[in-house]
Amino acid sequence: TQIFSDRKNSLGLNMNIHSQADDFINAVHQYSDKQWQGGPIVNGDVVDAHHRVAIHSPQKTDHQVGTICWGDKALAEQALTSANAAYRRWRDTDVEVRAKSLEKLADLMEANRNELIALCSVEAGKSLQDGIDEVREAVDFCRYYAQQARELMGEDTTLPGPTGETNELLLQGRGTFICISPWNFPLAIFIGQVAAALVAGNCVIAKPAEQTGLIAFRAVQLALEAGIPGDVLHFMPGSGAEVGNFLVSQEDIGGVCFTGSTYTAQAINRALAARTGAIVPFIAETGGQNTMLIDSTALPEQAVTDIVASAFKSAGQRCSALRVLFVQDDIADRIIDLLKGAMAELKVGDPIFHETDVGPVIDGVAKSNLEQHINDISQAGRLIARAPMPEYTDGGTFVAPTAIEIDSINQLVKENFGPILHVIRWKTNELDDVINSINGTGFGLTFGIHSRNETFAADVARRMDVGNVYINRNQIGAVVGVQPFGGRGMSGTGPKAGGPHYLARFVTEKTRTNNI
Ligand code: GLU
Repeated sequence: TQIFSDRKNSLGLNMNIHSQADDFINAVHQYSDKQWQGGPIVNGDVVDAHHRVAIHSPQKTDHQVGTICWGDKALAEQALTSANAAYRRWRDTDVEVRAKSLEKLADLMEANRNELIALCSVEAGKSLQDGIDEVREAVDFCRYYAQQARELMGEDTTLPGPTGETNELLLQGRGTFICISPWNFPLAIFIGQVAAALVAGNCVIAKPAEQTGLIAFRAVQLALEAGIPGDVLHFMPGSGAEVGNFLVSQEDIGGVCFTGSTYTAQAINRALAARTGAIVPFIAETGGQNTMLIDSTALPEQAVTDIVASAFKSAGQRCSALRVLFVQDDIADRIIDLLKGAMAELKVGDPIFHETDVGPVIDGVAKSNLEQHINDISQAGRLIARAPMPEYTDGGTFVAPTAIEIDSINQLVKENFGPILHVIRWKTNELDDVINSINGTGFGLTFGIHSRNETFAADVARRMDVGNVYINRNQIGAVVGVQPFGGRGMSGTGPKAGGPHYLARFVTEKTRTNNI
């Protein structure tokens, strides 16, 4: 089946057109000293009475971006009660109304693009290009799910039946979804989850990552401005241990949509199982031990460009990012040489500047875990290269992109969520072992392959137990409606964000038989 549509993905900005780029950069820079404020939003009102937390920029830890109030259990309970009371009204609202409000939200995000990009940079340490892409993806999720909802839920499906009887199948929202999102896509994934749940006819309590509540707060303000009712969408920043844990343990929720670590997903899964009451869907998208395989027919220059993008773009803080590169031994020295050269050119620094390739990692804890891993694994393996660090780091949590040669993927005990690439050489007779070792990690998110042998590439791609395979290109930056994204096994429960089957996970089906 081919799925084409007249829906267009949103346009980005062509940073190669200097006049456009300069205007844009100036506009974003105007926000760099702004102090943002945020807090829980319950029933459309910002709540200001709870624990206030200061947010600091990862690139300048003494720069305060603003403050946000955290919610607590009592407030989360209030939000859930209100959402559950609103659920049937929202579920029975015409899908067209829900879809239109998502489209309005998309327009509002585009209209407020520069502020959102500035927030992505100062709060989440994202490069300007990543910020541009982030807003585009959030906009695309809204427009895509709006269209999907119309197609899926606009009309009930008529089924056959005996004379005098009509049979129909209809889709309805399930209740209140708890949406828990990560700091690495603080706008796109946050909005993607919320948009899918809402348009399918669910109420939502959205809990952002602890590090990036201010961007999410702005997004919720825009959603309310777009016409999503205040009792339908509630915003609950707070600690995962308190607010997150409380919400996923409640009996009267409709489902949970989560993106984050495998560890947290497993904990949520246990909390859901320990509840009594309704058995609800759990949509989880977690991490990966993502690999790329290069054979001796690959074009080395192209492969290295894609390796660098896959491993180091966004400081390697993407679930999709490349962690382990398998390179066939007869081409390995050439690839490693080119890689060293490319890494020496990488510019690590403050992401607010256009020339920066790699920004900071999210916080001090992430930095020290990554440095610890680099230290440990360098002793077991051989350091290939580290990219140069900026001269002045302003206390920013920078980790220089690092490549290390190791012997086996089994030396890696967990996902290392940052700019660290492990390289393993393989010989022709080891291909089966390589594939088995990759599948044996239990993760299954992205896999890249560089080979000019089409049959070989297709065969290896088929054998990999992963959600997204990329042949002869980088393995990051899945596009809504084009590369539906999501993994399997320890990488998630499978639903593909930005894909045609995603909304189906947020609804329940009702068969209506009518003996006329
Ligand atoms: N969809 C993103 C990509 O393709 C990754 C999402 C994530 O990191 O959770 O790069």
